[in-house]
Amino acid sequence: MKSLYENEMKLEFLSKSTNEAFARISVAAFASQLDPTIEELADIKTAVSEAVTNCIIHGYEDMEGIITITCKIFASTILIEVSDNGKGIENVDMAKEPLYTSKPDLERSGMGFTIMDSFMDEMQVESILGLGTKVSMKKVIKKKQKDEKSELDGKIFSSFRI
Ligand code: ATP
Ligand code: MG
Repeated sequence: MKSLYENEMKLEFLSKSTNEAFARISVAAFASQLDPTIEELADIKTAVSEAVTNCIIHGYEDMEGIITITCKIFASTILIEVSDNGKGIENVDMAKEPLYTSKPDLERSGMGFTIMDSFMDEMQVESILGLGTKVSMKKVIKKKQKDEKSELDGKIFSSFRI
């Protein structure tokens, strides 16, 4: 089947906390074809990390389930969707409020969605109670000047640090 996008990928993995690093590094590796700066890549890694952590801690809580990530690239835009089939969110607007957390006892700061929203260009949360949650994020990778790019080429691998 021909894709509407120039490139796309899909990852499915268990909701184990060890897989958070796997997810963030895999998405960063896929995104690197857009020649992002170290900062742009760090923004994407942080946003993916927050979304995946939410699936593990809130979506599946004490259960284990499948987390799915899809990434689509078109021109200089990357679309990232992180979804779970966990417990869902009752009030998405409230959940997105800065400092709102349903788990203050676990030292959560309630800033995950706020971080995703500010580090990416767009963020949208869809959730159905009892069925699961999907976070969609978009980032436009800025075109680089030639001299700016050559300086980056040598650095790109160092940005895959965990
Ligand atoms: P922090 O991310 O700062 O550690 P947090 O995870 O509580 O704290 P957010 O990431 O902003 O804060 O999420 C806000 C709230 O939305 C969570 O406390 C939780 O109630 C709910 N939530 C977020 N993601 C999910 C999810 N995938 N499934 C179910 N509930 C979720
Ligand atoms: Mg969170």
